Amino acid sequence: MSETGSSRMTANRAPKKSIARKLAMLVTIAVATSAIAMSGVLLWRQTSHYAETKSKSLFASAHVFAAAAARGVAARDQNAVYQVIKAIGQIPDLIYARVESRGQLLAVMGGATQLDGDLRVTEGEALSISPLAILSSRSIQVEVPIINGGVNVGRFVLVADTRDLAEELQDAFKGMALGSAMALGVGLLVAFRLQKVFTKPILELSDAIWRIRRSHDYTDRVISKSDDEVGLLIDGFNAMLEELEERDKSLAAHRRDLEKDVSDRTRDLRIAKEAAESANSAKSDFLATMSHEIRTPMNGVMVMAELLAASDLPERQRRYAEVISKSGQILLAIINDILDFSKTESGKLQLEKIALDPAALAEDVTSLFAERAREKGLDLVSYVSPATPRLMTGDPVRINQIIANLVNNALKFTESGSVILKVGPDPKNLSRIRFAVTDTGIGIRAHKLRDIFGAFTQADQSTTRRFGGTGLGLAISKRLIECMEGELEVKSVHGRGSTFAFSIPAGACEKPANWPSPRKAGATALVAVKGDATRATVLRYLREAGYDAAEARGEILVADLVIADPHRIDAVERREDGYVLCLATFGDPAAHLMVRDGRADAAVSCPLRRSELVSLLSKIKVGHMLGGADDRRASGAVALPRHEGLRVLVADDTAINREVAIETLGQLGAIVETAENGLEAVTAVENGDFDIVLMDVSMPEVDGFEAARRIRERGGAAGKERVPIIALTAHVVGRAADAWKAAGMDGVLYKPYTIRSLAECLDTFKPRSQGATTKSEKSTSRAENQATRCFDAPLLNEKKLSGLGLLANDGPTPFLRRVFGLYLDHAPKSVAEMREALDAGDQVKIGRAAHALKSMSVNIAVDRVVAMAEDIERRANSDGSVGAENIALLDKALADTFEMIRNIGAGDAQAAPLPAQQAKTA
Ligand code: ADP
Repeated sequence: MSETGSSRMTANRAPKKSIARKLAMLVTIAVATSAIAMSGVLLWRQTSHYAETKSKSLFASAHVFAAAAARGVAARDQNAVYQVIKAIGQIPDLIYARVESRGQLLAVMGGATQLDGDLRVTEGEALSISPLAILSSRSIQVEVPIINGGVNVGRFVLVADTRDLAEELQDAFKGMALGSAMALGVGLLVAFRLQKVFTKPILELSDAIWRIRRSHDYTDRVISKSDDEVGLLIDGFNAMLEELEERDKSLAAHRRDLEKDVSDRTRDLRIAKEAAESANSAKSDFLATMSHEIRTPMNGVMVMAELLAASDLPERQRRYAEVISKSGQILLAIINDILDFSKTESGKLQLEKIALDPAALAEDVTSLFAERAREKGLDLVSYVSPATPRLMTGDPVRINQIIANLVNNALKFTESGSVILKVGPDPKNLSRIRFAVTDTGIGIRAHKLRDIFGAFTQADQSTTRRFGGTGLGLAISKRLIECMEGELEVKSVHGRGSTFAFSIPAGACEKPANWPSPRKAGATALVAVKGDATRATVLRYLREAGYDAAEARGEILVADLVIADPHRIDAVERREDGYVLCLATFGDPAAHLMVRDGRADAAVSCPLRRSELVSLLSKIKVGHMLGGADDRRASGAVALPRHEGLRVLVADDTAINREVAIETLGQLGAIVETAENGLEAVTAVENGDFDIVLMDVSMPEVDGFEAARRIRERGGAAGKERVPIIALTAHVVGRAADAWKAAGMDGVLYKPYTIRSLAECLDTFKPRSQGATTKSEKSTSRAENQATRCFDAPLLNEKKLSGLGLLANDGPTPFLRRVFGLYLDHAPKSVAEMREALDAGDQVKIGRAAHALKSMSVNIAVDRVVAMAEDIERRANSDGSVGAENIALLDKALADTFEMIRNIGAGDAQAAPLPAQQAKTA
């Protein structure tokens, strides 16, 4: 308690009016009141008594005198009478006497004057004299008859002085005052004593109250010494203290219990929290381990499939390999997303925002599911509206995952009919792109529609048994779509089919390219295709392109353009200026047979890809020969950076992974050595001279981290040049995912990797001497990069020439010789033009010259020159960055090409006009 509080309490303890003072006042008032009352009574009684005795004695004296004077009066002897009354002088207080007879005054004694108000009493009144009357009178007068011999002979008047009454009263009051004073003294004394008797315990009680109040010690008690009311008060107070103490005890016990409860619960909570954390960490570890376990074998599958797809394979097998590779990528994306799914729970999902081609994305998904659709006999197709931007901004992996999930479900829950994926601007908001998957499957009952988006929820419990699945796909998709500011909608009619759709912001877009129009206005097209959805889509595309397109119905097929199934091709009547496209299921060799036999101009694979159709329609528009699959392959060729002569050490304990690395690095031009564990890797780095080390982190004996640490230690001690070490790991989450940094490694390459990611990784980490970019070297190295990419393209694509029928086993056709002759003549002119334009600083002109060179090169399959000319044209038109080194490289490629042309014996022919029937130009 504060000092002020305490002093205030002490000050409060002095009562304003003490009991002692109050008692004294009470006693004084009581004594004074009783003294006054008693004085009144005394006065009354004293006066009454005085009046009574005075009047009695006066009458007695008057009778005595009357008797004594009777004879004299009867005799009218004044002298005798006088002698009698003279005796009154002997009696004190008698101040006057008079004797009358027959109306005459006989004798008078005394001379006192009597006032009118003075008391006159007759004999009968003597007892009822009022004290007031006597108090207000100074004398009292009585008269008696004088009887002589029984005859009334006269009257005797006697007056006595009453002034002695005052003296008497004074004496009486004095006595009473003395008595009152003594009573007051005794009263005060008693009061004082009493006060002590009462106040002492009260004060003790008060002290105790203040003491307890200060100490809060409710075990303290006030000792009661009296059995009166104060004793009762103290007992009551003690009882109250007891109750307080009891209450305190129970409160303390309660608090103890409460504290114990709280600490018990805190402990329980801590245990639960630790358990949850360890479960969570176990979950993360499990996810990390699982992803590692799945990724490791996938590395082999994916890289090998990629290599297979890039190798010289027949078209059909190449498509199979592509599907394996792409499926692997989808699977990998799903694994990543499942890992990310746990991140979405904590709101940590990171979405990419990069440019993506929505049409290609959708068509990739339908291609991936083509085989499934074919097995189930379903018609699977995608339709991309012509208003769809060529590029939009988004996360391609996630969008791919969502669409794949929806298409997968649609195929899963559809027994017959079709599945169509539509892509286009959202009609409700044109700045968004809408993806919708519609099927003709089992549908979903209305009341189940909302449930299916919950994790692990399926519309029908029998679903799992019939169709498999986890019930997680839609939940993941919904979350992903919400993260992309979209919403997943569903419309379904039970037994008729469903549509799952979502629209997401397109972000920064690139406008759609114009559709290639027909060669002539009003060009006709006939479509003889089996699947309803595919047929409708093809018709729609053709109409959008400007064809007068119709569905074929059993008639002979004659039109400017016919698109037919292999089994309807026979119904086509071929025309010189007409085109026939054979639409065949993916992997169906019939279409290619048709092309080979000349019954069709090109094969179009099913599921239909808009890009494929657009490319064919563009060629038809300019009357180009339809090159078939090889065109596609050439345009899709992946140009990768080369790493000729780069010395790479690969440390991996898995034989398959070593083989994968040897193969891929070999493809990139690197020289590879391998180590089977960390120890071998350390020794190899010590004894060898490597430009880069790829180090698997999980190896027996000495793992990759330890090996990297040792290499760093020993390298530092020996003063050797620091070799970049790249961690190879399938751990993308968990502790292991970041451990490479602490081990002194320079970077990480996650498994499964692609050839591109490996090539780019080498590009990033290889030493400068191997071509790492410096500022001074920037432009040269850019040009070299361009050259490197372009050098991937063959100088002369003989296969393409053979496909076109221009190169036979015995050499080039006469036509080709003539074309090449023209080419040798004209191509150098374009290069010269470029040089001139460069000197004049005219990049636009460089672009034009490059375009001319590209155009004349493209039809004769000199792919490297085409690639370089295309690159120069792009640079000239975009940022005007074409330099002398670019043109020099092009010149060199041209020279090499010329040499090649001469080698195949085609460069010597004379230039001759081209026969119109060979090049279907307009
Ligand atoms: P899963 O397909 O693995 O069961 P999903 O989350 O993808 O999990 O789907 C949840 C449920 O929604 C499915 O089990 C099914 O009952 C219903 N469903 C999803 N897509 C369709 C569809 N296209 N047609 C009918 N039912 C569907």
